[in-house]
Amino acid sequence: MPTALPGSGSFLAWTVDDGADAQVIRQYGLFAQRTGIRLTFFVNGKFAAHFEQNLDVLGPLVESGQLQIANHTYSHTALTSLSVQGVHDELMSNDQWIRAAFGVQPAPYFRAPYGYYDQRVLDAAAGVGYSRAVQWYGSFADSSNIPAGQILDLAQQYVNAQGIVIGHLNYPGIIEVFDDVAALIEQRGLETVTLADYFMPPA
Ligand SMILES: [Zn+2]
Repeated sequence: MPTALPGSGSFLAWTVDDGADAQVIRQYGLFAQRTGIRLTFFVNGKFAAHFEQNLDVLGPLVESGQLQIANHTYSHTALTSLSVQGVHDELMSNDQWIRAAFGVQPAPYFRAPYGYYDQRVLDAAAGVGYSRAVQWYGSFADSSNIPAGQILDLAQQYVNAQGIVIGHLNYPGIIEVFDDVAALIEQRGLETVTLADYFMPPA
């Protein structure tokens, strides 16, 4: 399970999960729009309304490929607690919503809620087309509401070449430090990529 991008290079995969706050989703979209930074969102269908009210911003980013939409399950339940059928249902109900809302196919990329998976979960997911479980190398730790300064400290620690970093669409702290994180990416000479950019580059 990748926590880093394989190979050597100066790429960074900035991934962002969940969707509990519609304003944070919007601000991430506007940030991507004005900086050109490429992002991968691992979204939960239980927050469908928060994404759908921001399709004016997100839609064009998704269409151009600058923003990749990947599967984080519908209800954010730990997959290790579910039956094989339960894993299928969580992934496929979310898959269906993503295709309807964004017009893209999220497979094969998924992230297990809380990063909890085992071989049984991986096999079950692969059985419905989700063969790339994506973990992370460094976290901005903003799945809970932490101060912006702390997010920036973590970004300084983890925004590095070939890293997969994780943030969340849940609390507004990140909004205050977007420009600082963008500056960090620039100073360190990194190029942001979506997972699809990196693993399935256009021919
Ligand atoms: Zn999550």
